[in-house]
Amino acid sequence: MTGRFANIIVDISHEKVDRPFQYRIPDALMGELAVGMAVMIPFGLGNKRIRGYVMEITDRVDYDESKLKSVDSIVKDGISAQGDSIRLAWWIRENYGSTMIAALKTVLPVKKKIRQVVRKTIVCKVDADAASQKAEEFAAKHQRAKARLMRELAAQPALPQSLITGKLNVTSQTIQALEKAGLIEVQTEDVYRNIYKSALPEKLFSPSKGGWQKKQLSENQGRIVDSIAADFRAGVRRTYLIHGVTGSGKTEVYMELIERIIAEGRQAVMLIPEIALTYQTLVRFYQRFGDRVSVMNSRLSAGERSDQYERAARGDIDIMIGPRSALFAPFERLGLVIMDEEHEGSYKSESMPRYHAREVAGELCRMKDASLVLGSATPSIETYYRAKKGEIGLFVLKERLAGGQLPKVYVEDLRSELKSGNRSIFSRRLRALIEDRLNKGEQTMLFINRRGYAGFVSCRSCGHVMKCPHCDVSLSEHTDRQRGVSRLVCHYCGYEMPGVTRCPKCGSKYILGFRAGTQQIEELLGREFPAARVLRMDADTTKGKDSYEQILSQFADGEADILVGTQMIVKGHDFARVTLVGVLAADLSLHAGDYRAGERTFQLLTQAAGRAGRSALAGEVVIQTYQPEHYAVVHAASQDYEGFYEEEISYRDLMAYPPAAHMMAVLVLSEDALTGAERARALADQAKRHAADRHPVLIGPTEALIGRISDVYRYVFYVKHRDYQVLTGIKDVLEQTIRDRQWNADSVQFDFDPMNHY
Ligand code: ADP
Ligand code: ZN
Ligand code: ZN
Repeated sequence: MTGRFANIIVDISHEKVDRPFQYRIPDALMGELAVGMAVMIPFGLGNKRIRGYVMEITDRVDYDESKLKSVDSIVKDGISAQGDSIRLAWWIRENYGSTMIAALKTVLPVKKKIRQVVRKTIVCKVDADAASQKAEEFAAKHQRAKARLMRELAAQPALPQSLITGKLNVTSQTIQALEKAGLIEVQTEDVYRNIYKSALPEKLFSPSKGGWQKKQLSENQGRIVDSIAADFRAGVRRTYLIHGVTGSGKTEVYMELIERIIAEGRQAVMLIPEIALTYQTLVRFYQRFGDRVSVMNSRLSAGERSDQYERAARGDIDIMIGPRSALFAPFERLGLVIMDEEHEGSYKSESMPRYHAREVAGELCRMKDASLVLGSATPSIETYYRAKKGEIGLFVLKERLAGGQLPKVYVEDLRSELKSGNRSIFSRRLRALIEDRLNKGEQTMLFINRRGYAGFVSCRSCGHVMKCPHCDVSLSEHTDRQRGVSRLVCHYCGYEMPGVTRCPKCGSKYILGFRAGTQQIEELLGREFPAARVLRMDADTTKGKDSYEQILSQFADGEADILVGTQMIVKGHDFARVTLVGVLAADLSLHAGDYRAGERTFQLLTQAAGRAGRSALAGEVVIQTYQPEHYAVVHAASQDYEGFYEEEISYRDLMAYPPAAHMMAVLVLSEDALTGAERARALADQAKRHAADRHPVLIGPTEALIGRISDVYRYVFYVKHRDYQVLTGIKDVLEQTIRDRQWNADSVQFDFDPMNHY
């Protein structure tokens, strides 16, 4: 990188990170400075020397050249975690397109002054016998609360105050009275928030579930751990893929690897797709690593998150578990990143910058001299493609441990069900198998790829569909059965209106919801299997803080026979008594209309099938579909990943879709339809002109699939090319145009190798 000037972000760790400041590069440092380097610079009126990070080296002068100050020196003691974060932000900005400040906000934790949390413990000041005697005295005087507390303290001389005021229902007045009487003492202690308490249901901490036993790794598991660990010790850093069916022992491998890395004096990040769904994994980590592990979670409060970052920065923990943001834990000695379920869509950010955690993890590992381990039962086509090319080390785990076998899979053709007069949502086979499980006292999971009581509401007479007045999407009907009322809701902008009984267009009373949601299946089960106890899990029943865990642990405890849910129920849960899984309409995800629809369907079906028969009990799976011949359905039914991959990659290659090529979506937003369309056209033309000699393929511009959200119009075009750099080059040019014309930075958004259609 050449240039006479450096744009530098000042290291102001406790304040808001502001814009870059420009400095002159003195002759002595010319050619020595590089982006991401820490430097000392004079700053402010007093020219105090402070640290900064080089963001850009350029010949472009943005300010009055005669007023520029010079860079003082390069900081030699290596780059701090914060410097790494800034370098990573820079990389994200370059590769995904966004403003620097948005990229920085992605990687840097928001610092917040927070109230210290104080833990109060009630300590008994008399011995056990005296405490029991006091308890009896209080009981005799009908002072029940005092009696209750003293009885507990006789059994256990120190108890958390929260337990006493909570479970034991003892008021703070009572506690004060006993303290005055000299029987107890309240001790206080500053603590970090106990993240596990916020992230996990309390019952998992009951002593009966404790007691962790290290497992003897199988030969295959041991070989994986040994070879990755041997590479690490030999200084070899690379990316590995563990392709293992659910239940093949990947998590045990992760934990053993982490232990080895910690023994080398390094730290680890364990990425999991959605923390609320994987609490069983958290418990295993906690049982094995105790306080040395911490959790990042979007549901933690800002204060809780800030605590965890601080602990990481201080080196108080060795392992950070969490969704994609856990990557940005400020570990000084990071040695390993593990990404479980690496194919999951939630690893891709849905807001600017739209980064993919897998790629950012790769870059982070390069910066930190760390290794990256990806794991999945259904690897993403991208990752498998790289493994096939030898860029990624591939390991396979084939057998299920803990006695589980792969389930038997039936594909039921819904067209022939209809032909033979079965109009129900349940095929004859699925109904018979549910009946059988109810009789045997075993559990069933039913999965539908859709949310809510009903989908869109349409008129059977004239075809009119009820739509949101602000967004181009149909409204969904939500019914409150207790009150017998229904509402129509927009899932993009939240618009709501009362349900309709007559068509606003033609007046017909045959205006009905399309009924294929979880709530409707729950109702149908109630009618067809009145004795069955049914639980439902979807976005509507899991709004509360612990509702996921409550539903899952109720089901695990056998409080229900059937669990009905959206895709969230198919991920990673281990229920020993589930021997039947039904996929009610496998095709719904085939109609998503983007190039990943086949891959997503295959993954969903395979993972759903993996839920059956996780223990000694044999499992069965019923996949209901209108397209039994689709290759995603066929290969999922035979649990044949290789077969699916071969068909999918030849299609991607033919169509020049990722990973065979790369694709950049450019989304143009405007409150004015005409402006939006014009801007999209101008940018698309420029994109085409810019790298004309490299022949990028341009698709669009068109109105986006959803043409309007919250009164903002949306236009989109796509650029495809086999070389990613060609696309980032085009992006740079478009970003320059946006700056030059002073359009709002958020009004044009980039998405590389998008996960969804726009
Ligand atoms: P995955 O992460 O691939 O789904 P897990 O690591 O969760 O697999 O293992 C599945 C089950 O097998 C778990 O109950 C786990 O405790 C058990 N298991 C894993 N490895 C071993 C082993 N080496 N010996 C005995 N049981 C094991
Ligand atoms: Zn009508
Ligand atoms: Zn809307």
